[in-house]
Amino acid sequence: MIEESATRHLGLDLGGTNIKWAVVERGGDAWATIATDHVGTPRTAGPEAIVAALASVGHDAIARCPGITTVGIGIPGLYDPVAGTTRFLVNVPGDWAGRPVAGPVGEALGLPAFLINDARAFGLAELRLGAGRGASSMIGLTLGTGVGGVIAVDGHVLQGHDGTTGELGHQTIDPDGPWCGCGNRGCLEAFARADQIAAACGTATAEEGIARARAGDARAVDGLTEIGRYLGIGIGNMIAVLAPDRVVLGGGISVATDLLIEPIRAELRRRVHTTSLDSVEIVAAELGTWAGAVGAAIHGAEHSVRPEPVGSSVDAVVAGAGIGAGGGRTGTGGPRDGARSIPGEAR
Ligand SMILES: [Zn+2]
Repeated sequence: MIEESATRHLGLDLGGTNIKWAVVERGGDAWATIATDHVGTPRTAGPEAIVAALASVGHDAIARCPGITTVGIGIPGLYDPVAGTTRFLVNVPGDWAGRPVAGPVGEALGLPAFLINDARAFGLAELRLGAGRGASSMIGLTLGTGVGGVIAVDGHVLQGHDGTTGELGHQTIDPDGPWCGCGNRGCLEAFARADQIAAACGTATAEEGIARARAGDARAVDGLTEIGRYLGIGIGNMIAVLAPDRVVLGGGISVATDLLIEPIRAELRRRVHTTSLDSVEIVAAELGTWAGAVGAAIHGAEHSVRPEPVGSSVDAVVAGAGIGAGGGRTGTGGPRDGARSIPGEAR
């Protein structure tokens, strides 16, 4: 407990394997995680059952940590922040296009509910509580099955008009490079996702490649050097554009940060000439597996007390949660719905 007046906030992190949750307390600018847990995702049961499971997990968390005032929900993919619906999810089977999530979960829990992309949730958690603390501007990458990204400027994680700001994994590194799951070719993700790390290291899995590189296996060392070079190109692009003072590497592959950092830095030295690299810290994430749930909780907390002015960022909109299905700006058929078809983020 931080202080008497602290408020409590729930975060749910929907993943292909687990639904994780975290309860955080906020007292002024101080944050603390007071509980975390997880249950298996009923991944084959379909979206309706999964949304029901999110609500059920939320009920259990509230029972264990009374006094929760908001819920944030981390989504592994794309969503509509106005409608509170999903558009496309990675690694969670089913038809998620237009699926209401914030509304039903918020109603079931009686709390205002907010969606956030899971990589942005990771970044928000690291920014407030982890490896991004004290940074002026930060970029983050989640390295795993895919490559997620996040951008924070002046202490705020950028969401953009549709929640997709920060898809660093889908910047083009090579115009003629391999096809990416998003529909583009030559994305950073197409070079640096886990199966590409395994291929570069000549191993069955990225984890095995990392272990072999650690043991001095030349092929694996070369493989990670190559991956680090691609990451360095992508990070260099972001440094040229945003001049962050902190770069946070998260996700399962970030256990290899110590092996990747020198190839990344070598590439940065080759390519970045607009800002001093001495001012750019590259660090491994600190919060581990709970970052997504913690960040989702923080997202809900911050949006419940920081209403956005009309016409600005739409990520602040409560998708009808707790005020009935017809409440708030939950309508479908607006100009945004279906107007844009951004291919799925593949994380
Ligand atoms: Zn892509």
